[in-house]
Amino acid sequence: MSQSFSELPLSPAMLDNLNALEYHHMTPVQAQALPLILAGRDVVAQAKTGSGKTAAFGIGLLHKLDVSQFQVQALVLCPTRELADQVAKEVRRLGRFTHNIKVLTLCGGMPLGPQIGSLEHGAHVIVGTPGRLMEHLRKQTLSLANLQTLVLDEADRMLDMGFSDAIAAIVKECPSQRQTLLFSATYPEQIDTMAGRYLQQPQRVEVESVH
Ligand code: ADP
Ligand code: MG
Repeated sequence: MSQSFSELPLSPAMLDNLNALEYHHMTPVQAQALPLILAGRDVVAQAKTGSGKTAAFGIGLLHKLDVSQFQVQALVLCPTRELADQVAKEVRRLGRFTHNIKVLTLCGGMPLGPQIGSLEHGAHVIVGTPGRLMEHLRKQTLSLANLQTLVLDEADRMLDMGFSDAIAAIVKECPSQRQTLLFSATYPEQIDTMAGRYLQQPQRVEVESVH
């Protein structure tokens, strides 16, 4: 039994865009997580790779975005540059007709100078890897003072890669009043600890099948 996106309280523009992308039905993780995300809850979602987790948080963060405020309102942390590029691409696709949004990727292995230049021009959404984001915060080239949504994507992989201190340092710079969403393909105990540390009364969503 699949549910349509039109059952959600989304703007007509977002629904048109989802249609244009041929996203007609929600995947199971979207069907479970999106009502909670759109209601403003903190959510921990566990679902396999390829289950549509990006659109679950992407639609959620775009729904809340105030495009007229040219400030960083959403931050997505990813384990690698490749994954950050994929997430940024999907968020741009999801927002392409609805919003005139600026999505910036900030990852290690890329020169710092152009990133600082891009940050001076501003962005609504930042997608990046923890090490490089921490560097920008330390240099004060990035401010998270207006952040509304923090996403920890592929949290299990970020932990495996040793990013837990960097994540802690980044979360410290986020306003305490925010929505935090944690996505993971697996659910080791450390994920539970992380959720307890960074999320407020998280709702847990767990999906076994991809479709
Ligand atoms: P995950 O992050 O869970 O590994 P992705 O977010 O990368 O998965 O999504 C996997 C693929 O499914 C992507 O190609 C994406 O465009 C597609 N997709 C996501 N949601 C839907 C949907 N509701 N309908 C059709 N395709 C979708
Ligand atoms: Mg993913």
